[in-house]
Amino acid sequence: MARRPASSGPFDKLRAGSLAPIEVDLSRCVRCGLCLPHCPTYTVTGLETESPRGRLYLIKAIAEQRIEATPTTVGHLDLCLQCRNCEAVCPSGVPYGRLMKSARAEILANGRTPLAWRLRALFLREVIARPGRMAALAGLLRLYRASGLRWLAERAPYLRDRVVLAPSISGPTFRPDQVGALAQPQSKARGRVALLTGCIMPHAFGRVHEATVRVLARNGFEVVAPPGQLCCSALHSHNGDRPTARALARHNIDAFLEAEVDAVVVNSAGCSSAMKEYPQLLADDPDYAEKAERLAGLVKDVTELLAELPLEPPSGRIEADVTYQDPCHLAHTQGISRAPRELLAAIPGLRLVEMEHADRCCGSAGVYSLAHRQMSLDLLDGKMREIAATGASVIATANPGCIVHLEAGLRRHHLPGRVVHVVELLDEAYRQAGEAYRSPHSPYNTDA
Ligand code: SF4
Ligand code: SF4
Repeated sequence: MARRPASSGPFDKLRAGSLAPIEVDLSRCVRCGLCLPHCPTYTVTGLETESPRGRLYLIKAIAEQRIEATPTTVGHLDLCLQCRNCEAVCPSGVPYGRLMKSARAEILANGRTPLAWRLRALFLREVIARPGRMAALAGLLRLYRASGLRWLAERAPYLRDRVVLAPSISGPTFRPDQVGALAQPQSKARGRVALLTGCIMPHAFGRVHEATVRVLARNGFEVVAPPGQLCCSALHSHNGDRPTARALARHNIDAFLEAEVDAVVVNSAGCSSAMKEYPQLLADDPDYAEKAERLAGLVKDVTELLAELPLEPPSGRIEADVTYQDPCHLAHTQGISRAPRELLAAIPGLRLVEMEHADRCCGSAGVYSLAHRQMSLDLLDGKMREIAATGASVIATANPGCIVHLEAGLRRHHLPGRVVHVVELLDEAYRQAGEAYRSPHSPYNTDA
């Protein structure tokens, strides 16, 4: 393979030493292959190039200028879900997530990235990162669902597979000024926490935010939602748009540190993971490196925070078989898999039925399901078969992307049941016990 002249392509910065740690990271892979059976894209394709080991080899070969970063090569990296199951099982401690993010950042910055990838970056930067435009998009998605177009499209043979993964929205938008009305501490005061409201969450999952605030209040927390906050930057970081990710991170650090809270609570696993990695993102920023460490130290996934408490025991019963899907960015990047199960086990009547491969990616992975529809559908179909085998009527998880994707799976496979966040079940159990709540919008509301 012809060598390209030095400093003419991707990874120039890497070679120049500004990302030197990546070389050390790459050298830690001993090519043992233990990660392969845990990689969703490898299990579907059986191809080495779609495995963690194969992708690490490609990154190394590009960095060493032994191969070109052609669209085909870059395509293998792009098909990675960044689920980090490989990282969780690797005996050599290869920091796969950090490597893949660095590689993508270099490829995107180089400007020879495939058009679809660049368009994705543009959409994430110009829409998802901007609350006003995000609200407008949410309005369109709400209309799409309310008009019945989704119902029709999902029944048209040609369109069915093409639209089933498209997000749609129902229910009212969560507003930060609702927090005060929802958060009435009802046990001994445990502290003051800030809620990350996020980009899509307030529009698509207002009900999860409401449940989160009520459950935190029930457990003695004063909850605030700092008004200056923006999207956590997870999607931008995964897509390789490091400048936008860094700008969002700096903005959030200022907003949350200013709030002077005991913890920053996040109910989206992808977002809590991204915020805990702000120190990595801003390590070379002299003004923000220390602040990023401070903020990351405050961030708690909501399941993590609640499981650490002596939880106020819910006395309402939920008589249901529930299966739990581990969000990749909770189980693999944060190592949190017991906490959500302990919370579910605390609910009287609830029977937790484990599915096979609960920690294998469902195929959602942020905007992956829109970019790689067929792989995403293959993974979703496998996941729904494993869920159906449990006989559970409720699927619990802890990430909005997983909820949207698994709901699409229920519709696609004509399965009964519902998908909820773990905190929604806790909230339901508290409410069934006749706890006093105020909720202007909750679907469980009986007193508004
Ligand atoms: S990433 Fe880890 S588990 Fe996978 S081949 Fe390399 S050393 Fe082995
Ligand atoms: S992050 Fe997930 S999809 Fe990507 S190589 Fe690792 S296990 Fe496979």
